[in-house]
Amino acid sequence: MSLRLFRSLSVQLMHKRFYKKQPVRVRFAPSPTGQLHLGGLRTALYNYLFARKNDGTFILRIEDTDQSRLQVGAMEKLQEDLLWAGIIPDEGPIAGGPSAPYVQSKRLNLYQEQVEKLLENGSAYYCFCSERRLEMMRKEAIKAGEVPKYDNRCRHLEKDVINTKISRQEPRCIRFKLPDKSTTFHDMVYGDLTINQTEGDPVIIKTDGFPTYHFANVVDDHFMEISHILRGVEWQTSTGKHLQIYNAFGWTPPQFGHLPLILNADGTKLSKRQGDITVDAFRKDGIFPLALLNYITYAGGGFQREEGFQSVCHTYADLIHQFDVERINTSSSKLHHDKLLEFNKLELSNLLDDTDNLGFLVHKMQKMILQTFPDRRNDGSLQMDEHHMITILQWARNRITKLNDLVSTDLAFLWVNPSLSIDDPGTIGSLQTLCTELENWDGNNFKKHQLNDYLRKFATDNGVKFSTLMKSLRTALSGLEHGPGVAEMMEILGKEETLQRLKQCNIQ
Ligand code: GLU
Repeated sequence: MSLRLFRSLSVQLMHKRFYKKQPVRVRFAPSPTGQLHLGGLRTALYNYLFARKNDGTFILRIEDTDQSRLQVGAMEKLQEDLLWAGIIPDEGPIAGGPSAPYVQSKRLNLYQEQVEKLLENGSAYYCFCSERRLEMMRKEAIKAGEVPKYDNRCRHLEKDVINTKISRQEPRCIRFKLPDKSTTFHDMVYGDLTINQTEGDPVIIKTDGFPTYHFANVVDDHFMEISHILRGVEWQTSTGKHLQIYNAFGWTPPQFGHLPLILNADGTKLSKRQGDITVDAFRKDGIFPLALLNYITYAGGGFQREEGFQSVCHTYADLIHQFDVERINTSSSKLHHDKLLEFNKLELSNLLDDTDNLGFLVHKMQKMILQTFPDRRNDGSLQMDEHHMITILQWARNRITKLNDLVSTDLAFLWVNPSLSIDDPGTIGSLQTLCTELENWDGNNFKKHQLNDYLRKFATDNGVKFSTLMKSLRTALSGLEHGPGVAEMMEILGKEETLQRLKQCNIQ
């Protein structure tokens, strides 16, 4: 065995042992600068699954140190969206926990205390450069076609100069002395990586006393004893910097894994500004939480895809069971919208198959119907009892992908009498005869097949063309030219409603 191979194997063994021993603690660390969107949801989900899979702890930490970008109410909304998605933190602002507080702006003393250590051991320094100087440097670099970076000037200030400036209360920030070397680490998803150092020394404590993302993030991950970090690939280059900060403190870093970009099916980038990729937009559009999660996992990989995997909307337990970090793709994850609708349809079926969910679905539907057809609320004609709702849901399960399809134009007839007038006296006559005959039917026999046979016979007996009869019935019952079969429509509306609609046509 070559030395190289031996070394690599022993590193892997050590890695395995370490991996087993340390309790798994992962976190989702959003900044409350806007709504939770698909990218954020994916990060939260994969961390959650990783925690559950490894009997670990899933933590929610709010990173609100960039006060200028905060959005009022965003933190609360984020937590609400996670709850809706069923991704429930074990520790966080609501759940509390041993590492509280879980909101960075409430941890400022800790950052202050920790940065002192870096100042003392020479890994950080005060910087007094004015915004004007920095701006000039930036402009010059751009003019010269270079990437702007800080020239590390204040690294070299004498101690007494620093003390004088501090005693004069000159505005200052604190910068980290970024070692001039590349950083190598093992990415759980991308494998071994080397990040080259090309930046100037980064600010870790801003002039306003707030930490920057990089610093607060590392300090908190350490003190919250985070074992693994799964986050978007856009943070991969920052990992080099973060590892250098761990090193300066003498701390053992967690393991890092980066999740590939999520793209639209056509390969274009998802934009946070695209309103329709927020969790809230999917929720309002009638997408079920598990359908959304399956949509994301379908795109991102990370699962043992057994046979039939793709045509099932998996439960939380399935997703946890099948999750495997090593299977996450390194190539970008493409979203397929038709898959989302497919998962939603499957999830609707799953929900309908479990009687425990029926009450919830009925309640949702009743609310939606009353909102869509407010005029029908009090006229007593809206059949909305639980039994009828369940019948409709079971009938519609193969026709709809979302609950709100039930109030779309195609199916509005379920709730609204089209009240159309039919002018042709011949047709009115046959409908009248039909009504009289149907009056004698037992409501329990008002079934598609019986009705179909009966209507055929009725057409023959009354000398009406079957297709003409069907057309006028369809119009009278739904106001539609196309749609479900007439007998099917009659069954779903029931005897009373069918007769009422037919009679109303006759009167006009
Ligand atoms: N606050 C960062 C964000 O908004 C967290 C990145 C990380 O997970 O380290 O995405």
